[in-house]
Amino acid sequence: MFDYLIVGAGFAGAVAAEQMARCHGKKVLVIDRRNHIGGNAYDCFNRDGILIHRYGPHIFHTNSERVFQYLSQFTSWRSYEHRVLASVDGKLVPIPINRNTVNLLYDMKLRSDEDVEAFFASRAEERCSIKTSEDVVVSKVGRDLYEKLFRNYTRKQWGKDPCELDSSVTARIPVRTNEDDRYFTDRFQMMPKHGYTRMFENMLDHSNIRIQLGCDFRDVETSSFREIIYTGPVDEFFGFRYGELPYRSLRFRHKTFDKEYLQPVAVINYPNDHVYTRITEFKHLTGQLHTKTAVVYEYPTSEGDPYYPVPTPENAALYKRYAELAAATEGVHFVGRLATYRYYNMDQVVAQALTLCKQLVAAPDYALDSATSIATVSNALPIRPAVAL
Ligand code: FAD
Ligand code: UDP
Repeated sequence: MFDYLIVGAGFAGAVAAEQMARCHGKKVLVIDRRNHIGGNAYDCFNRDGILIHRYGPHIFHTNSERVFQYLSQFTSWRSYEHRVLASVDGKLVPIPINRNTVNLLYDMKLRSDEDVEAFFASRAEERCSIKTSEDVVVSKVGRDLYEKLFRNYTRKQWGKDPCELDSSVTARIPVRTNEDDRYFTDRFQMMPKHGYTRMFENMLDHSNIRIQLGCDFRDVETSSFREIIYTGPVDEFFGFRYGELPYRSLRFRHKTFDKEYLQPVAVINYPNDHVYTRITEFKHLTGQLHTKTAVVYEYPTSEGDPYYPVPTPENAALYKRYAELAAATEGVHFVGRLATYRYYNMDQVVAQALTLCKQLVAAPDYALDSATSIATVSNALPIRPAVAL
């Protein structure tokens, strides 16, 4: 009945479903073990009618015109430039570090980019190579700013010291000498006007797409599917054959306050205080007007739903072994943040899924009749009796 089984209804799965169904006329079944679509980008209205992001703040930003145009078919947008403050030494200072961060923290009056560059140069520690997340920051701005803004936040967020993490983690945060206090400088930065879930509904609204929620891949009889697109954790797919790949998790504590706003910007980071890392106030992101306000506190944990692949050399080596297995598993295509174990933003996942679909339709066996080829996953995981789909 279906050409493709798509596991996961997040960005990776939804893009794949949309492309294969709408552009290539394939019949697809999308399953997700959660009871909603949208993956971690899912948003919904809370009891007070405030739009919240159940799995933490999601801000869309990209330099890719292709990704932006693609998603624009399914949503209109609200212009939004994200700004974050960090609570340090009793002050709220801009993060990424910029001229004002330095002036506020050190009670200085640096006026030009050159002044700030000279300040950083006087503090920076020389490193012969930049391998870790500590190297990235200390080599640019020195130890004191690193300790005020990065070391403890990173320890909380990842349960590891920055010197154990790949440089790519803290390299996500630029260092600026000007007064630009935007979190991102991408060409396109905005929020879906009516929310992410509405955008996903539009993507998946096609007669060739069927969605089954609350349905785990483990419980699906896979032999009747020609091909599988899998967006869940790759180690789980292979029954943890080589051991578990570490994913960092978060506990989200949502709270509503009976006041119009709680904080001056959408996100305040707490590098050195509290067990949580940051507080997000949703109305800043969504532009919603409401007499109350809703926020979420993020508590990092090693247990719970997998949210972040943990970029360390050991984990990269372990993932490589799974990636080799994945490449050798015919009829199953791995895509997305969990399935390819990459710390990807939404736009990168969209691009990855678009590329996969392009490759699938360009493959020589694409023209095969759906009924003639069966996905070969039966030796990869225990198949339980089929659920009614
Ligand atoms: P997911 O969204 O994780 O979707 C995978 C889906 O597969 C899930 O719904 C899961 O339930 C389902 N699934 C897994 N295994 C199975 C199974 N066995 N059977 C059935 N279903 C299964 N990116 C940005 O660009 N901007 C941001 O501001 C941003 N903020 C973020 C904040 C947080 C707290 C987090 C955790 C991530 C953030 N991201 C952000 C990253 C963004 O969430 C991801 O890039 C994107 O959601 C990944 O999409 P995906 O489809 O690969 O994975
Ligand atoms: N980071 C930090 N202090 C901050 C902000 C970020 O140490 O105030 C580090 C931390 O290791 C974090 C990484 O930079 O995990 C990437 O930050 P980003 O805001 O991109 O994280 P995400 O939104 O993906 O959780």
